[in-house]
Amino acid sequence: MRELIDRAAIELINSRYAIVLTGAGMSTESGIPDFRGPKGIWTTNKEAEAKAYERYELFLRSPQAYWEEMLGGEGTHGAFYREVRKAEPNTGHYALAELEKLGIVKCVITQNIDGLHRKAGTSNVIEYHGSVHKLRCPSCGSRCGFEVLAPEKLPPYCQCGGVMKYDVVHFKEPIPFDVIEQAEREALECDLMLICGTSAVVYPFASLPRAAKPSYASSTTVIEINAEPTQLTHEGISDYLIQGKTGEILPQIADSIKMKVQQNR
Ligand code: NAD
Repeated sequence: MRELIDRAAIELINSRYAIVLTGAGMSTESGIPDFRGPKGIWTTNKEAEAKAYERYELFLRSPQAYWEEMLGGEGTHGAFYREVRKAEPNTGHYALAELEKLGIVKCVITQNIDGLHRKAGTSNVIEYHGSVHKLRCPSCGSRCGFEVLAPEKLPPYCQCGGVMKYDVVHFKEPIPFDVIEQAEREALECDLMLICGTSAVVYPFASLPRAAKPSYASSTTVIEINAEPTQLTHEGISDYLIQGKTGEILPQIADSIKMKVQQNR
């Protein structure tokens, strides 16, 4: 493990344009469960998984019922979002923010909806699946805060006349075009991709590592940090896996980088 941490540190120092992809595993140490890990929400509750696949259709069919669910009490998905909004970053989020400040990490593309990368201080973040901290109008694409939300007058409307939803991209909902475009640009630009805490099975996000490394001969380095091997490990898309917790491994990589940079001064 130590060898792989030092190898990753050296490769990050030598990279021209390193980017980071993150998933739900990145935030389990902040108390937010993932979906598919051993203690994941869907691993332990199959009904929650089935409901998640219906949420976008519910919004299209009845925005009022969608918002009633989102503002509902304990046990509803809305209550889960409100808990997520209160979460705090962990040592992994802070380590990535530090790597951005050192000029090594150029961009973080996250599937997480919790806003914890920004809270930890990373500035260039693409929230691929949106955020629980905002609302979005699917008609014109504009985003805003919760000030437009009045529980006695549901659903909330955008100035363009469209109905607003959570900015979160629900299953079966298209990813906003601006987000897809920015993320693809970053994946094609990078020469090193660090992938943290994702099972990498949700598309189109899961296509980003494959775009960065279209063949074994590609010179892009792909490094995974995950609690368990994933599809990317099995398919050989990642060059290697550092197996363990992101909240423990990322700070060690950041420390190793700082030490090596100081030694070379
Ligand atoms: P996933 O649940 O499919 O996979 C998470 C992966 O992370 C698993 O392989 C798990 O073993 C690993 N993992 C768990 N804890 C870890 C840790 N501390 N360190 C390293 N690895 C760890 O999650 P996904 O691939 O991100 O896809 C699920 C979807 O769920 C995404 O679209 C995301 O938007 C959404 N989601 C987000 C949050 C959040 O915002 N925090 C939470 C749950 C789900």
